[in-house]
Amino acid sequence: GTQVEWKEFEKSKVYMADLESGLHYLMRVELATHKTLEGEELKTFKDFVTVVAKLFPGHQSVVKLLETLLEWLVSLPLEKIPYDAILDLVNNKMRISGLYLSEQVQWVGCQGSSVALRGYPCSLWTLFHVLTVQAANRPDALANTGFEDDPLAVLQTMRRYIGTFFGCQECGKHFEEMAQESLNQVKSVDDAILWLWRKHNQVNARLTGSMSQDPMFPKTQWPTPDLCPTCHEEQEGLHVWNEQMVLAFLRQHYGASNISPKYSS
Ligand code: FAD
Repeated sequence: GTQVEWKEFEKSKVYMADLESGLHYLMRVELATHKTLEGEELKTFKDFVTVVAKLFPGHQSVVKLLETLLEWLVSLPLEKIPYDAILDLVNNKMRISGLYLSEQVQWVGCQGSSVALRGYPCSLWTLFHVLTVQAANRPDALANTGFEDDPLAVLQTMRRYIGTFFGCQECGKHFEEMAQESLNQVKSVDDAILWLWRKHNQVNARLTGSMSQDPMFPKTQWPTPDLCPTCHEEQEGLHVWNEQMVLAFLRQHYGASNISPKYSS
């Protein structure tokens, strides 16, 4: 049935199960709607796999699988890749070598009060926040990828992934508008972390009270004072963010050591 048991979780943690389930959904469901990848789509997918393979702070077996997929994509002389070939590789590599990407979705911090709510889009936001923090913490990770010294590596990859593959096309359109407006102001990896936080809050504000909101998880301006009291200040009676504190909080919250292995394989 579709009834899933509720999983206890802490709002102050990030869950590996959500990140792995997001990758599972991305590779096996979202990508499956594209029968072949070619041209810009193929380039976008390759860049996405590059950034995730180099920066994903996951289990060795998942990282290894992503690296294998990347080597294969880079070495193939094809201009067109059938989706089935990607799926075969992901499945076969896993079977042969025990490389592992969860076989099913298991939402934890991203679970919703019904199966139609939260889940994948929540995990995608979470993944990209984690990747922006990893890019700042591991400046050499993208060496020899074509992305070295590029503070926009993660955000440009996200922008193109969302615009090309993300099932919600309206989301892609909104995200593209935000990127065109202000992505060129991002000059450092710390700016990139804060840009994504600011834009995510802008989306939260737009969606407050909308249909896509899970009544059990109302949209907020995040992090709320209970999660980060020092992020919030008042100036002349108005709320303002202390962005230095927000940055420190994001680096802690989305940092590798705050990712819980609970419920993950
Ligand atoms: P989400 O917004 O998915 O957030 C997931 C988790 O991230 C939260 O639980 C919280 O822990 C944390 N978080 C919240 N805010 C921030 C922040 N500012 N910075 C860092 N972490 C934060 N839906 C639409 O209906 N219209 C759209 O235009 C739209 N655009 C989208 C664009 C993108 C790029 C993505 C990935 C999703 C978009 N969605 C859109 C989906 C929507 O934003 C939510 O993902 C979805 O409604 C599920 O919401 P949620 O409650 O799980 O929280």
